[in-house]
Amino acid sequence: MICRICDSTKLEPVVNLGEQPWCNNFLKKEDVGKEPFYPLRVLFCHDCHTSQLDSTVKKEIMFGDHTYLSGTTKSLSEHFRNIANEVDAKFFANTRQKSVLDIGSNDGTQLKHFQALGYEVLGVESSKTTARIANDAGVPTLHAFFNQKTMSDIGKKFDIFNASGVFFHLEELHSVCEAIKQGLKQDGVFVVQFLYMKSIMENLAFDQIYHEHLLYYSLETIEVLLNRHGFSMFDAYLASIHGGSIIGYITHKGNREPSEQLLAMREDERVSGCNTIEAYREFDLRIQRMRQENLVYLNDAKAAGKRVFGFGAPVKGNTMLNYFGVGPDLIECLVEKNELRRGLYSPGMHIPLLIEDEVTELPDIYYVLAWNFKKEILANNQGLIDKGVEFYFPVNPKVSA
Ligand SMILES: [Zn+2]
Repeated sequence: MICRICDSTKLEPVVNLGEQPWCNNFLKKEDVGKEPFYPLRVLFCHDCHTSQLDSTVKKEIMFGDHTYLSGTTKSLSEHFRNIANEVDAKFFANTRQKSVLDIGSNDGTQLKHFQALGYEVLGVESSKTTARIANDAGVPTLHAFFNQKTMSDIGKKFDIFNASGVFFHLEELHSVCEAIKQGLKQDGVFVVQFLYMKSIMENLAFDQIYHEHLLYYSLETIEVLLNRHGFSMFDAYLASIHGGSIIGYITHKGNREPSEQLLAMREDERVSGCNTIEAYREFDLRIQRMRQENLVYLNDAKAAGKRVFGFGAPVKGNTMLNYFGVGPDLIECLVEKNELRRGLYSPGMHIPLLIEDEVTELPDIYYVLAWNFKKEILANNQGLIDKGVEFYFPVNPKVSA
């Protein structure tokens, strides 16, 4: 195994979450127990400091037809609108004809906000179902994996590239970077949104580790990748989405100087020590402790005769459930909004999913797997809280949507 970013062979295992199923593989009843398992292990690169998985589930399996829809979450859609408004106001307010390409455009939620600002938009989405949903909603979307071949086929240049929550999925990382370089206008801006490893550590949000996330970036480590392909980041900030994500602005090398804000964040990151092997070793110990504490909590609830339902069935929840070994004996069901998941079971632990309209009884405890929407969830469920339902957050993010 060589480092996915810098090709070094100096990789050391730091977090081992055991054998896990692909976490987006929610199962039909007849498929329960037949799902394959893969190692879920994080390695640390001693040369470039990027943490990464050592096993790759084929992208055709993971992204050929997944059921995640970004449009189902209100705060995510608002976040995407803010991004579009901000990028436009900062860089393209005076540009007449402007265009944007979104990599991994999902159901078109991000691009709709650009359309509203007068942009010519193009989505590239690998999931057939979500690409169709986007096209039906009037967002031109190519059903394909984004790489150099796809970019050549598209055959034009764009003012903006957006890659939100996909830049750590990509198996063809270097090809994708080259394709962006090829398709981004000389004065164009590439907006990258990624989970911030520093926040993952601070929040102890180890459930963000799953097979779709091949890489875990900090500013330091993503800049290694970008520099390698002739890009440089010139501004960035931390957004509350997913418990702490970086929104980074990137352009061709030599175009712009780094902002004061970016310089301050780099310094903050250096001081935190999050890019060191010691930080990863401590992270690993804290994860193991968290497992013990959560098992005590759930077993005590069971012993006291309390009914526990999961709140949300995010893919990351499966990392946690599988690593903790929590099944239907401790959490009866996972309550979910996404209609595409009706009647399905969670991979690995086989907890049944219930769509909100199927829930007829109240639990004593909602165990919140979708913890990154803590604020939204608490605000929307005040009625249940008043009735005495406890909302337990296994992860308590410093910032939340
Ligand atoms: Zn490396």
